[in-house]
Amino acid sequence: NRRIALASRPVGAPTSANFRLEETVIPTPSEGELLLRTNYLSLDPYMRGRMNDGASYAEPVAIDGTMVGATVCQVVTSLHPDYHAGEWVLAYTGWQDYGISDGEGLIKLGAEPTNPSFALGILGMPGFTAYMGLLDIGQPKSGDTLVVAAATGPVGATVGQIGKLKGCYVVGIAGGAEKCKYAVDVLGFDKCIDHKASDFDAQLKAACPTGIDVYFENVGGKVFDSVLPQLNTGARVPVCGLVSQYNATELPSGPDRLSLLMGTLLVKRIKMQGFIIFDDYAHRYNEFYEQMMTWLQSGQIKYREHMIDGLESAPAAFTGMLQGENFGKLVVKVAE
Ligand code: NDP
Repeated sequence: NRRIALASRPVGAPTSANFRLEETVIPTPSEGELLLRTNYLSLDPYMRGRMNDGASYAEPVAIDGTMVGATVCQVVTSLHPDYHAGEWVLAYTGWQDYGISDGEGLIKLGAEPTNPSFALGILGMPGFTAYMGLLDIGQPKSGDTLVVAAATGPVGATVGQIGKLKGCYVVGIAGGAEKCKYAVDVLGFDKCIDHKASDFDAQLKAACPTGIDVYFENVGGKVFDSVLPQLNTGARVPVCGLVSQYNATELPSGPDRLSLLMGTLLVKRIKMQGFIIFDDYAHRYNEFYEQMMTWLQSGQIKYREHMIDGLESAPAAFTGMLQGENFGKLVVKVAE
């Protein structure tokens, strides 16, 4: 049994020295428990926050603790009345080959799920985040201009595609020409702009000639600086994540823009609201799941995974994701 522990807390971007791969014995389940074998491990931006000490909406990972994360597993041994060996489950056993569960929080995926890893992406937390953040907070209306960054990741790609289904004019923001082309050609966005372009600000303005009605905030930083003056009166801004800032060690330099932000919110009566998906919307998961299954099966929503092999590859892949090296939902195949 291998596990990846948090060896030290990163300062800035995580490095391999912050993680430690170690061999441990395969744990033995007690009465009422299950032994789970990890098939797929999800890597998500929020994990960067768990590597820090200090108060957030969830507990930090302890030093020497196993890195946390959602997993798709098969039951190896069951001493729990509701589960039997061979069944697939969505679990939260973290960065390791085997984990123990008492059944709490497990979601059954059946005996032979078609795409088991989808439970970590389009049919799970990121897809649900896109759906609720856009529909409940973003309130998109037909004809609205919707802007979303990290446009080819599991949240952004889903936000933009749902926006299209609701009749919006959708402008994506992504890192590099290949991702931008994919957002337009495959995902069906109207435009997609490379945030690394030197004239990004001018390109965004040109792409949104009638201003921005919904800005789904995934990244913060310079992208938000360009978006803010283009928001329309009555715009909605679901604040989902600020991935450009997760490795930051201090506030960005430059003039204080807080009064510009507050003034814009006031004068344009903008609604800006943060949310934490399962804390706020767990009661609507079934509604989401049914709708997303329908969209996936009809081909109205497309989904791309970036699958990497081997638990040992997780630290580098995770660090790379925070710099945009992933192209699609980042998943580690831990075992067949
Ligand atoms: P992604 O797979 O999209 O990965 C993150 C992406 O962020 C990178 O691929 C990169 O894409 C982009 N990025 C990184 N740095 C920058 C930068 N400086 N400027 C602009 N873009 C940058 O992640 P997810 O789809 O899983 O998550 C998207 C967001 O949603 C994150 O902020 C995450 O924390 C948040 N989230 C929030 C939840 C909630 O409950 N509030 C739940 C789930 C996710 P590119 O190369 O295109 O720039």
